[in-house]
Amino acid sequence: MKQSIAFIHTLRNPPADAEVVSHRLLAQAGFIHKLAAGIYSYTPPLKRVLDKISQIIRDEMSKAGAEEAMLAMVQPKTIWEESGRWDQYVNDGLLFHLEDRKSAELCLGPTHEEVMTKLVSHFVESYKQLPVNLYQIQDKFRDEIRPRFGLMRGREFIMKDGYSFDADEEGMNRSYLAMKEAYSKIFARCGLLFILVEADSGAIGGSCSQEFVVTASTGEDVFLICDELEYAANQERAESIIPNTSSRGESPLAIQKVSTPNVRSIEELCAFFDCLNPDRIIKTLLYKAIYKDREEFLVTLIRGDREVNEVKLKNHLNCLSVSLASDVEVKNLTGVEIGFLGPVKLAKNLLVLADSSIDGICNGTTGANEKDFHFVNVNIGRDFSVSNYIDIGLAKAGDTAINGNAENASHKLRATRGIEVGHIFKLGEKYSKAMNATFVDSDGQAKSFVMGTYGIGVSRVAAAAIEQSHDDKGMIWPLAIAPWAVHLICINPKNDAQAQVADKLYRLLLAENIDVLYDDRSVSAGIKFNDADLIGIPLRVIVGKLASSGKVEFVERKCLSKRVELELEEVLPTISKLL
Ligand code: ATP
Ligand code: MG
Repeated sequence: MKQSIAFIHTLRNPPADAEVVSHRLLAQAGFIHKLAAGIYSYTPPLKRVLDKISQIIRDEMSKAGAEEAMLAMVQPKTIWEESGRWDQYVNDGLLFHLEDRKSAELCLGPTHEEVMTKLVSHFVESYKQLPVNLYQIQDKFRDEIRPRFGLMRGREFIMKDGYSFDADEEGMNRSYLAMKEAYSKIFARCGLLFILVEADSGAIGGSCSQEFVVTASTGEDVFLICDELEYAANQERAESIIPNTSSRGESPLAIQKVSTPNVRSIEELCAFFDCLNPDRIIKTLLYKAIYKDREEFLVTLIRGDREVNEVKLKNHLNCLSVSLASDVEVKNLTGVEIGFLGPVKLAKNLLVLADSSIDGICNGTTGANEKDFHFVNVNIGRDFSVSNYIDIGLAKAGDTAINGNAENASHKLRATRGIEVGHIFKLGEKYSKAMNATFVDSDGQAKSFVMGTYGIGVSRVAAAAIEQSHDDKGMIWPLAIAPWAVHLICINPKNDAQAQVADKLYRLLLAENIDVLYDDRSVSAGIKFNDADLIGIPLRVIVGKLASSGKVEFVERKCLSKRVELELEEVLPTISKLL
């Protein structure tokens, strides 16, 4: 492609709303154009990147025995009601929801479990036709609460979504493993450094799921890792062994009510009681749970130095969502002002869930269910009872990995940020049962398909690659997904020697089927190099003054200071070796 006629329009300044480097650089390089919040058009250079990522996916999918299909993007509400997910997605506010001329409700597909289950169960009748593994690469639509970071969290974005159908769990496990291996190859071929972590299954559901995560400081998710034990999990999902409370093993003292005027938060309490350790406080929080047909309030008890993991809480309650009750709701339901709730003599009709972190607290401090008062020396079993402890706590760095030993310092978790680029799930019969999708098994019985689902954020992969690979001058594309492999720059096309050498190299590279962008523009060398640095094509051949003596310069984008001189005949072999 000649740059003089290519649709490449770099901007002098990045957009004001770009918070992360990939957004800034993709916009400044003219790879994306924002149409509305989280909705972008992709220009030809980015289309080339997306096509290359897609081609790697197609290649690995077909090696793993999966076939490409293309499903309808507009989906009827009825199939979402069959699977039972309509309410969840409406509650999450994620659906782009429409009505047709006959007032039938539809949505733009945020994911395709329902559509694929319909398709496969229509055609597949017998166990002899299994397994089936189909995928597609297509735009998905999610009305994200906070669309941001350019391609990272769009409202319309490209996803590869795949679905496996097996006759039994063993088959599903085989399909899952094959996809896990294929995904590892895909992300490695895309030039990404990634980790595989345990994940929450979220609104997709199912028994087990893992995420592929590109580590990057700008990632929206936190992951907890123990290298020694090879444990890695999304913080939403992570379990851990927490340090013991400092009150453990004390002798119980008599409960006492203490006046604590205006002392509400954990920090205020600790200060008021003269450096009270927060691990002696029983934090009492009122939550509101939203179900399909009702709202319910409940109380969680957790140690003062720990936080509630709302994903675990929501999963435990099997509700659509949870959120902290407002000040007014706390007052109305318990008669107590926020900051003074406690488990002793709490309003009777409330469900109380105790996190395992409070187990072992002796002589604890809690709100006294009376404005401006707290109890001290509260003891579990004596002053209030807990029927069972559950894990609704947020694991954090410094905790011991759940499979580790608290005495061993190398079993501690560390936190890192990352970008979820892929997510694989064992679904089991969740969708097939709900949607009555069956086949006839070898014993003549009708059985539900045992499914898996596998997603890759194709457009997010492009952004993640830039988060991981850039410098202060611009993007540095990994070779396998770069818009072009080679940037051929003719410094002065008006100089005959330079123009001739550059034209010749361009023809040679094209003849070898090497992706080349040829900067043949009549602009200053400064502009050419600024653009080239920004666009980030990995290999660069510079045709300049040396052309008259039959030489050019070669440099890799990732190390601009290492320019080497090459004879013309050395150019192709040098490039071929790197490809
Ligand atoms: P997230 O937790 O980031 O919202 P998710 O878990 O809801 O993502 P999945 O349903 O697992 O997403 O979708 C499969 C893949 O699609 C994700 O792993 C991610 O790479 C990509 N993806 C999801 N949402 C978006 C989005 N809004 N913009 C770009 N890519 C996305
Ligand atoms: Mg996910």
